[in-house]
Amino acid sequence: MAFKRLKKFFAGPTPHLSREDAMKIFKRDHFKCHYCGLDGLHRFENWLILTIDHIHPHAKGGARTLDNLVTACQPCNVIKGKRIFKSAQEAKAYVLAKREEWRQAFQEQVKAA
Ligand SMILES: [Zn+2]
Repeated sequence: MAFKRLKKFFAGPTPHLSREDAMKIFKRDHFKCHYCGLDGLHRFENWLILTIDHIHPHAKGGARTLDNLVTACQPCNVIKGKRIFKSAQEAKAYVLAKREEWRQAFQEQVKAA
């Protein structure tokens, strides 16, 4: 049981997505985050945090098909989480609103520091 969990952990969030398919999605999306537009080819640090996101979460039955998968930076992928949205655009609006909320909290912390 523990081994199974460990195996899943090391396989990452999309264990059955091949590198080839992930690369197809990155190329289709021009290595840019669907949500915030972060350009994965602009800097190595950006490229390092690119992930593949299931628009309709895999954990909630979302298909592992190219039309349900988008390039997402890790922060956006985490913010979106396993929430279900009616469309990719609705998911994007949620993520961007949340990022803005967190940006304001960040700015307040910088001011207070
Ligand atoms: Zn992003």
